[in-house]
Amino acid sequence: MQIRHLQRVLAPEPAPRDTPGGHPLRSIVRRLARVEREGSRVTVIASATTVRDGLRREELTLGSPARGEFRAVLLSPEHARPGPGVLVLGGKNARLEQLTGEAAPDHPDRNTAERLARAGLTTLAFDHGVLGGVPSERLGGRDEGAVLAHAFTLTGRCLLGALVGDALGVLAVLRAHPLVDGERVGLLGHSMGAAVALHTALLAERPLPVCAASHLGTYPALFGRLFTGFEGAVLPGILEYADLPDLYAALAPAPLQLQYGTDDPFLDPADTRAAAETVRRGYRTAGVPEPEVLELPMGHGTHVAHAARFLTRALAAPAADPAPVPAQRIRFDATERRAVLDRVDTALASGVLTQGPLVARFEELAGDWTGTAGVAVSSGSAALEIALRILDVAGGTVLMPVNTFFATAAAAVRAGARVRFVDIEPEGLGMDPAALRAALDREPGARAVVPVHIGGIVPPSLDEVLALCAERGVPVLEDAAHAFGSTLRGRPAGSLGRFGAFSFFPTKVALSGEGGLVTGAAPEDLEAVRRWRDHGKSAAGSTLHDRPGGNWRLSELHAAVGTVDLERFAATLAARRALARRYDALLDGVPGLRPHPVPGESGSNYYKYLAHLDESVDREVLKKRLRDRHGVHLAGEVYDHLLCDQPYFGAAAGPDGDFPRARRFARHHIALPLFPSLTEEEQERVVSALRGELS
Ligand SMILES: *Cc1c(COP(=O)(O)O)cnc(C)c1O
Repeated sequence: MQIRHLQRVLAPEPAPRDTPGGHPLRSIVRRLARVEREGSRVTVIASATTVRDGLRREELTLGSPARGEFRAVLLSPEHARPGPGVLVLGGKNARLEQLTGEAAPDHPDRNTAERLARAGLTTLAFDHGVLGGVPSERLGGRDEGAVLAHAFTLTGRCLLGALVGDALGVLAVLRAHPLVDGERVGLLGHSMGAAVALHTALLAERPLPVCAASHLGTYPALFGRLFTGFEGAVLPGILEYADLPDLYAALAPAPLQLQYGTDDPFLDPADTRAAAETVRRGYRTAGVPEPEVLELPMGHGTHVAHAARFLTRALAAPAADPAPVPAQRIRFDATERRAVLDRVDTALASGVLTQGPLVARFEELAGDWTGTAGVAVSSGSAALEIALRILDVAGGTVLMPVNTFFATAAAAVRAGARVRFVDIEPEGLGMDPAALRAALDREPGARAVVPVHIGGIVPPSLDEVLALCAERGVPVLEDAAHAFGSTLRGRPAGSLGRFGAFSFFPTKVALSGEGGLVTGAAPEDLEAVRRWRDHGKSAAGSTLHDRPGGNWRLSELHAAVGTVDLERFAATLAARRALARRYDALLDGVPGLRPHPVPGESGSNYYKYLAHLDESVDREVLKKRLRDRHGVHLAGEVYDHLLCDQPYFGAAAGPDGDFPRARRFARHHIALPLFPSLTEEEQERVVSALRGELS
């Protein structure tokens, strides 16, 4: 009985370690479930086999340190050869004899293990031990499962975790069975058993197909509105991180079938439908086939025929294809997420929700990487616009490279300027000094020059650009949105011009969700940024406004994310650089493409890992094939359209030429996926996919 488990667990144990690379929710589930590895090790103590009525029936006595001895039954077709196996997890009130068809089922389709075996699958079902441990006279009408769940809570553990521990142990027995191909096992669960199946699959080492019946909805509905939730089917504290549909979605890419009945008195069909949609969306986001969701005219049951069809198909093919390599993956581990939540909590408790101590800390942390002090603002675009307004570009001209993000130019337009575009130089992808000189000759009254550090490279040519601008008396604003942490001959991006502008949008190398930073060496410039970002107040706290400022402030809540991200930035940068070096080595000898060599003086943060394609390669076709045939998603280009070709600027581009070098680069480069959590295996898949398609 699970009661014995409870007695044992009063002795503390070290927490099991995380498996690297899994969905972030898995580490949460592992922590909250507190499954004990040692306690869950299950051995076969005795077995006896009979054949009856076309089924081979193996009665097993299993034992584990947590549970002691308990019963299980393995069923297979009489003449079965090694094949797929399914662990069958019954509901709270399901007895083993009913699951296996020895006793008449007292609930629709309760004999699931028997019927799946008749459909050709080897099944293993075991006694979950939730009921029958306490004499009924002592229960006095109370639900035994609830009593047991509460008793577990007293020890800081949970009944669901104990059930999952058993299931993981029994799963290993199933895998090792001579009639089972250990690579092809799946889970079927009903009600509480579906919760066990879900959490077991989340903690399993590789994706397992799961069929979950009559257990779908949101926890707030099940526990707060319907009052039908069972505490033995939920991890205490889980809602702090995820709702039930999020947990199902975290099973991606494992094949998943969700069944629910429209007449199930424990579920609310509308809530269940919405939950199913959340799961579907999660699978879509992960870029894998959607789960099968079956809304059926049944009560609180299992549709065994649908389950058998699904499991037979899911377990037929050898292991599923590996998950796709995404263009980008943002990851905060459990400790980092906890740190963000703690900071948000502190902000909420203090009532200071914007421009408070977290924003100050964010500015301080950013300063370690930008060389000069900075003022946090609401976005990279706001940073650019504020700097341009301080430079008083209204009515004048601003010069910038023709291959930058639209936001660079739009900020200048909003600040009242006319923009003129300049071609790039091919080595550092910066503004071409000769082209800039010609543009300055054409625009003698230019109010600002905005170089952009494309892909994280601060180009050596920037020194010439700076000298030229100094000579002409034109201030320089670095659009360093790509270049947080990058350097040129040891000098940080953002410290080279009069102003630097950074973005902390989620796709950038450092992020706060939404956020930006203006850097500058002159204290009066930074003070002006503070005035502009706060509605143009003439002084802090004043109600007098002396310029048309805006709401360009950063909130404390964004700074909570941003500070946590900046605290790990040294590791982020080191990881990006190591991955880039590894791509350099792996791509050596791949035909049809040439990695862009980063100039030796430039310390790139590898915002983008850029490569040039041979002119004969059709980039769109290549990207589609990488996606469709290899599950490899390339990152976005920087950029595929020149600004002069954007609908907004098309007509206004002026007589600036046709930008041959920028055009050539825009047309023929790609950016490989590169983010700190990219694994070596994923990198190898990217490169072998490229090699396969380009050879
Ligand atoms: C991202 C980006 C911006 C804009 O930053 P937001 O934070 O999205 O406003 C500006 N310039 C460049 C080059 C960028 O990549």
